[in-house]
Amino acid sequence: MGKYGWLDSHAHLSDERLFDRIENVMSLCEENLVKKILTICLNFDELEKAFILKEKYPQIDIAMGLFPTDYDLYTEENWARLLEVASDDRVVAIGEMGLDYYWEKDEENKKIQREHFIRQIEIAKKVNKPILIHSRDAAKDTIEILKEVKHFGIMHCYSYSVEMAKEFIKLGYTLSLAGPVTFKNAKEPKEVAKMVPMDRILIETDSPYLTPEPHRGQENEPGYVKHVGEYVANLKEIQDEVLQEAINKNYDLLFRQYK
Ligand SMILES: [Zn+2]
Repeated sequence: MGKYGWLDSHAHLSDERLFDRIENVMSLCEENLVKKILTICLNFDELEKAFILKEKYPQIDIAMGLFPTDYDLYTEENWARLLEVASDDRVVAIGEMGLDYYWEKDEENKKIQREHFIRQIEIAKKVNKPILIHSRDAAKDTIEILKEVKHFGIMHCYSYSVEMAKEFIKLGYTLSLAGPVTFKNAKEPKEVAKMVPMDRILIETDSPYLTPEPHRGQENEPGYVKHVGEYVANLKEIQDEVLQEAINKNYDLLFRQYK
């Protein structure tokens, strides 16, 4: 028992709040048995920073994608660069990408988001790497696109209903649970955590955002994924080690295509 440890399937280590004190961040990971971190890059500067981190910390995996509302990044030059880095061995997934109708109310812009979401899935399909999906207030359109453009990957920081969760699972997606599951008043994420099958679950911090209890109010970091994990294991009435084994196996299965 205990050979797996925790794993953070979604963090933003290139964010200066974590990058500038990375030694500190990584030492808390060690202390809390967080043995793998997938860091998400939202532009090419962040990607360069992630490559530097990976030199020193091989337990860091890297993903790169264009965030739904970063419209100014949707240039032909960047599409070409994204396609190029997508096939870099150090980049294990494409994303986060998706739809964010919480921050965007304009129909024309929502349409732009959908087009660019599809375009990024196509890139991921070309290199056969999983996609990391950001979806907020846009469950229906997200499902529709994923039905149309079939691929595989992770619903990051899953925050929709139990019914929707079943839809995403049916489509083959893995659900990653984040800090909100630990919040006292968050009923739905707790129901989702109980329901999601052991072969479709991952956990994450989305640090430096969404700090879980008992650190809510402080800045989030990957070491805190342990609190998400312990909370979820408790909800599922299983040992921490059982959840650790599941998330590590799920992660490896998703990323095995090119490892
Ligand atoms: Zn993120």
